[in-house]
Amino acid sequence: MNSIAREAVRPAAELDDISVIYGRGASAVHAVRGVTLQVRSGEVLMLMGPSGSGKSTLLQVLGCLRHPNTGQVTIEGTAIASLSENALSKLRCGRIGFVFQHYNLLPSLRAWENVAFALELQESNTTQVERRSRDVLSRLGLPDRADAFPSELSGGEKQRVAIARAVVGRPNLLLADEPTAALDSASGNQVARLLTEVAHEHGTAVVLVTHDNRITGFADRIATLDDGKIAVIKRNIKLQGKALQEQWPNEMEEPDHYSDRTGLRRGNASSLG
Ligand code: ADP
Repeated sequence: MNSIAREAVRPAAELDDISVIYGRGASAVHAVRGVTLQVRSGEVLMLMGPSGSGKSTLLQVLGCLRHPNTGQVTIEGTAIASLSENALSKLRCGRIGFVFQHYNLLPSLRAWENVAFALELQESNTTQVERRSRDVLSRLGLPDRADAFPSELSGGEKQRVAIARAVVGRPNLLLADEPTAALDSASGNQVARLLTEVAHEHGTAVVLVTHDNRITGFADRIATLDDGKIAVIKRNIKLQGKALQEQWPNEMEEPDHYSDRTGLRRGNASSLG
């Protein structure tokens, strides 16, 4: 097995029998009920399901933003329950990137400064910070927009800046909550393609909460939640690399649901460097 294949089979995150309950007593809401799930480096996993089925809560648990009531979260082999708040915060900043539906860019900062803002937590050399920030924007297709303010960017461009901000620190796990919901079809497609490149070419585990059927063709696996549980996990055998294909012998394959409309090919030269 070569190094890329080895990287591709290492779990980036593991959820073991996770439950989350909001409130208590008669008003308690069981948002997540006993979910067990592994997220592999190099895959795009989409979480789908009706509103209120627990997708966002599960994403927050994966991002170590919410402690589950029961169950264990393991990130890159480390059980997070064993970490101090300080260590947990370091892990979140250094190993996990977040992308949101409404971009959350700071309006008074230029595109590259928004990216740099995230990197400054890790890197103190300001020349390096600017170079790396501009570099990642170029590689995400925005070389000419690095000096623009968010108000001068289209929705798709803003989301690409937000992705640049999320990946500039080279996280192993990238979590995105409805990243294409506010975008038109073409921009949504471009953003989904970019997230897929981040996963397939850099070995990042990408987990997306989405209702957007236009982008399901980009998923390696789709986990459908219902009432806090995973109802079914389907995998896209056409899109998955061999290392990923061998991992989930018991999951359903769904060759018809997914299509080749993504036009993605594994093994292409990386556009992200
Ligand atoms: P989804 O992302 O699939 O829409 P959520 O994870 O947001 O689902 O919510 C799952 C359930 O938990 C829903 O019934 C929702 O109303 C409830 N819920 C979510 N957040 C909170 C909260 N902060 N306090 C109380 N209930 C919540």
